[in-house]
Amino acid sequence: MTNPYLAEWTTEFNLPPFADLKDEDVKPAVEAALSEGRAAIKAIADNPEAPTFANTIEALEKADATLSKVLGAFYGMAGADTNDTRDALMREFSPMLSAYSSEITANAALFQRIETLWQERESLDLTDEQQRVLMLTRRSFVRSGAKLEGADKNRMAEIKSRLATLGTQFSQNLLADEREWFMELSEDDLEGLPQFVVDAARSAGEEKGAKGPVVTLSRSLITPFLQFSPRRDLREKAFRAWAARGENGNANDNREIAREILELREERARLLGYENFAAYKLETEMAKTPEHVRDLLMRVWAPAKEAAERDAAILSKMMAEDGVNGDLAPWDWRYYSEKRRKAEHDLDEAELKPYLQLDRMIEAAFTCANRLFGLEFEPLDVTTYHPDARAWNVTRNGKHMAVFIGDYFARGSKRSGAWCTAMRSQQKLEGDIRPIVLNVCNFAKPSKGEAALLSYDDARTLFHEFGHALHQMLSDVTYDSISGTSVARDFVELPSQLYEHWLEVPEVLEEFATHAETGAPMPRDMLERLLAAQTYDQGFATVEYVSSALVDLEFHDGPAPKDPMKAQAEILAKIGMPKAITMRHATPHFAHIFSGDGYSSGYYSYMWSEVMDADAFEAFEETSPFDPVMAKRLEDNILSKGGSEDAEALYTAFRGRMRGVEALLKGRGLVAVE
Ligand SMILES: [Zn+2]
Repeated sequence: MTNPYLAEWTTEFNLPPFADLKDEDVKPAVEAALSEGRAAIKAIADNPEAPTFANTIEALEKADATLSKVLGAFYGMAGADTNDTRDALMREFSPMLSAYSSEITANAALFQRIETLWQERESLDLTDEQQRVLMLTRRSFVRSGAKLEGADKNRMAEIKSRLATLGTQFSQNLLADEREWFMELSEDDLEGLPQFVVDAARSAGEEKGAKGPVVTLSRSLITPFLQFSPRRDLREKAFRAWAARGENGNANDNREIAREILELREERARLLGYENFAAYKLETEMAKTPEHVRDLLMRVWAPAKEAAERDAAILSKMMAEDGVNGDLAPWDWRYYSEKRRKAEHDLDEAELKPYLQLDRMIEAAFTCANRLFGLEFEPLDVTTYHPDARAWNVTRNGKHMAVFIGDYFARGSKRSGAWCTAMRSQQKLEGDIRPIVLNVCNFAKPSKGEAALLSYDDARTLFHEFGHALHQMLSDVTYDSISGTSVARDFVELPSQLYEHWLEVPEVLEEFATHAETGAPMPRDMLERLLAAQTYDQGFATVEYVSSALVDLEFHDGPAPKDPMKAQAEILAKIGMPKAITMRHATPHFAHIFSGDGYSSGYYSYMWSEVMDADAFEAFEETSPFDPVMAKRLEDNILSKGGSEDAEALYTAFRGRMRGVEALLKGRGLVAVE
């Protein structure tokens, strides 16, 4: 029987036949796909004909079709629903895949063909998109070490393989630490917690097989627990466990892994002739240099820290009035901030929550996409990889555009955070291939029969990930390698962060924020209070984010630290980190920068993109949030373009110019608004 991973998928929309995909089939499928890829690469490199764009660059685009198909399905599933077998497979695949990609970039005959095309590019009569793909292909070969020789070449392959292994280990350690820890709560311990937190704790207890409710390290449970539990001792215990992920001195400890990763990255950059890893990494981003990144972060840091210090003084006073002795600690901030929010904005997360039903928020995200881009969403009756993951057929004017899979609930088998991934990307080289796009979140799962309720932050996350999904679903390019979200890292958060703004449009909340039990729309005054409170506690949020981004930058801009924990402490001391706030992601659980290379020296990207999203949404506000002309400009210049043009050129085409940091600071309420 043919391996179901390799067989032609005859399912509707050529979806992976999830029910037939067995873990024991993955490895043979990957091995077969690698052999097929190797044969294709060899055929390109050994082709006796002179290099042409078609027989070299397009052939390269097609070489890994089977591998992409197998890995897209497997990694899409494994990230959202892993088990010991899948964990072991990922550990095994990391060095295999790294060796494969090193083999390709080290193939001198192949690189020579690319180089020849590059030299002849003016006379090849290429389209703009082809020029761009040629440039990117060559650049990626050079940056992977294609020009290295001898010992340096071998060392580069070794480094990449080791980094791939370490990155996988880092994620798995983190997930293991998150899975292992939970804190049982007695009935007395539940006092003061709103019903939705109690429900989430009971549901988590059932999943862990505990006798009663528990607090886990899932952000969607521990955050509300820290916001609402009046028990300072329990908050401290939970917070310390959360902060210690990857740093427990057990088998899952990530500190030594982080040190080795930083050391290898520096060596890799130096082999390629760069001064350090940040210089290497940022060269191809919009930011271009570490100085530009530092400049942006420090301009935001000063007003953010000032705001956080003002807030800390107020929270400390509230704590003293509560009769608590001692300084405001990180496990106190959220609790007193929540109290203050209620006092100042009369906004209580527990009161708000029944109005933010998951299903209604999904509908809201879909409806905005319909009004802006004409997309329609029809539920698909298919078996996905997990009963909680749902699928929709996405169409426009009757034409199939994408399959969208939404997998929203937290579970022990899912890595933490929220993300968007494509099991298949849009392209036109091999027919009109439409994408399969996945949004994965970690929202607290309700008990049976109850409606799933979100916090406002959760709802924003849903819109954020859906913005990435739109970038994939509206993609309209020829080549897979520049499709959808294949853009500069500091540009990729623009569509996602921009989409968050539509959640703030009053008419959207008016229509979709309806009470789970009564169906009544959110009262007008609550809606106004909610929107007025949007900049509430931004000092805290900005400080925890910017401190993480600065640590990431300093780790990579200079010699690799011998002791990253010590270096982290020194960096924080230097910028005067407020005592009651911790980094959003401290080194031992900073998966963004250590699980892989994606966000390394790139955690600042969210803020870089925010400069643009704040400005881009102003373009809609100048006319109307659903202005069809502006929506079309956004699709034509950004969402459909993938990486087919330089990011700055795309943004300028949409907006006419780049902007400074002012709109961002204003959006966060960090400067006085005249
Ligand atoms: Zn994002």
